[in-house]
Amino acid sequence: MTLAITALAGGTRDLDRAELDAFASTLDGSVLLPDDDGYANAIALWNGMITKRPAVVVAAGSTEDVVRTVAFARDQGVELSVKGGGHNIAGLALSDGGVTLDLSGLREVAVDPEARLARVAPGCTLGDVDRATQAHGMATTLGFVSATGTAGLTLGGGFGYLSRRFGWTVDDLEEAVVVTADGQLHRASRTENEDLFWALRGGGGNFGVVTEFTYRLHEVGPQVTGGVIAWPAERAPEVLEAFRAVSATAPRELTLVALRRNAPPAPWLPESAHGKPMVAIVACHSGSAEQAEADLAPIRALGDPLADIIQVREYVQLQSMLDATQPKGMHFYWKSEFVSELSDDLLDAYHAQFDGLEAPANQIVLFQIAGALNERAEDDGAVGNRDAAYACVMQAMSAPDSPARDANRAWVRAAWEALKPFSTGGNYVNFQTDDEPTERTAESYRRNMARLRSIKARYDPENLFRVNRNIRP
Ligand SMILES: Cc1cc2nc3c(=O)[nH]c(=O)nc-3n(C[C@H](O)[C@H](O)[C@H](O)COP(=O)(O)OP(=O)(O)OC[C@H]3O[C@@H](n4cnc5c(N)ncnc54)[C@H](O)[C@@H]3O)c2cc1C
Repeated sequence: MTLAITALAGGTRDLDRAELDAFASTLDGSVLLPDDDGYANAIALWNGMITKRPAVVVAAGSTEDVVRTVAFARDQGVELSVKGGGHNIAGLALSDGGVTLDLSGLREVAVDPEARLARVAPGCTLGDVDRATQAHGMATTLGFVSATGTAGLTLGGGFGYLSRRFGWTVDDLEEAVVVTADGQLHRASRTENEDLFWALRGGGGNFGVVTEFTYRLHEVGPQVTGGVIAWPAERAPEVLEAFRAVSATAPRELTLVALRRNAPPAPWLPESAHGKPMVAIVACHSGSAEQAEADLAPIRALGDPLADIIQVREYVQLQSMLDATQPKGMHFYWKSEFVSELSDDLLDAYHAQFDGLEAPANQIVLFQIAGALNERAEDDGAVGNRDAAYACVMQAMSAPDSPARDANRAWVRAAWEALKPFSTGGNYVNFQTDDEPTERTAESYRRNMARLRSIKARYDPENLFRVNRNIRP
């Protein structure tokens, strides 16, 4: 018996079922085929717009399973994808018709509080890591939604509330253990396999399968001051003006995020505001409560908000505060650009996108990231983009059966066209959708692209690891 499977060389080939069974018998984990229990769950991605169906899912049970699966895919000449948290918007976790190596069962976090390091397995979510490190009053820079996979976030660079203090997530990456296309397990760090480590610090899944990440930790929390404050959209020009002024001078303990959208039916907002245009600022202050009060005063001085839920709270709680705004299975479409300043013209173009906007969940978010990441050289890790002060992200969310899906997507594209002239020229590789052309990936890496290509040629000359924002050898 054979199984039709996507071949690395293109098209499909027949995989001998007996060979698959022999491979499965070597695993600590298991193989899932489309009719098996667990298959549907394994291929359910955060972005419901992506409907790829791997012929085989390997639910890894150990690092050895990663080595076995890489060897199997290479020797059989079949397409291989790697799934961490399954949150990539382009659905890069899954192979369509090939083999998907699902690491989501590997979720161990080992914290060494003395050394201030955390060793993290590749299936961990951000929440797994935050909870484990916060038990010691420590954290590393991770993103804003706790169900996101740590692996994919890190490999694309990574930013969050702590970026202003500590830089990109990969600036705190101390070591990675990685299985390369030749099936070898390597340790990579600033002093061992330096080129490979440099490439992993932003270059995505192009260089191998990372089986363990080691992060440097910092004292953070366990309580911080954070939350959200919102006003009716008529106040947007003065709110964005205050956001610009405060974010330009705030100490690095304070990170602000601004957004406009129609108000969600959230319990913290008055019912009378639901569905109506609003502007909001999300804040995280990781300094003392007194300092936070003082640093946030100019924002609060705007007065008369619809709601203000900025308060002292657990850092882990803040890290999941936005989870409900990004429910798994909806159809998402995003575009991003990094910008180095919020000029008057940029803000005018920003506000203009909301004239007559009816879509309930479309938004443009301005994430403040300026600080530590700007202090390193552009070629300190593949991630680059060290001239970025804000990430500007245009986002649409539609229910799977929504007739507005295409219109929402068109709105994102139009907003992106309007805001792209203000870009540094860089965009975030981890926010690229499946319709982005390859030039967009080159724009993500800019002058680091040539070195990435040469490291790819060395470690993956046959481009085994291609289900990603691909860097061709
Ligand atoms: C709701 C939401 C919020 C987000 N917020 C932020 C944010 O605040 N900050 C931020 O920086 N990013 C953010 N992101 C983007 C996020 O970083 C990317 O979506 C990232 O790809 C998610 O990682 P994952 O492990 O879940 O991805 P997956 O979909 O599982 O995989 C994505 C890619 O990573 C590769 N990969 C995964 N694991 C490995 C591994 N162990 N070895 C080699 N390659 C691997 C895969 O091959 C694939 O190409 C957010 C995404 C979502 C959906």
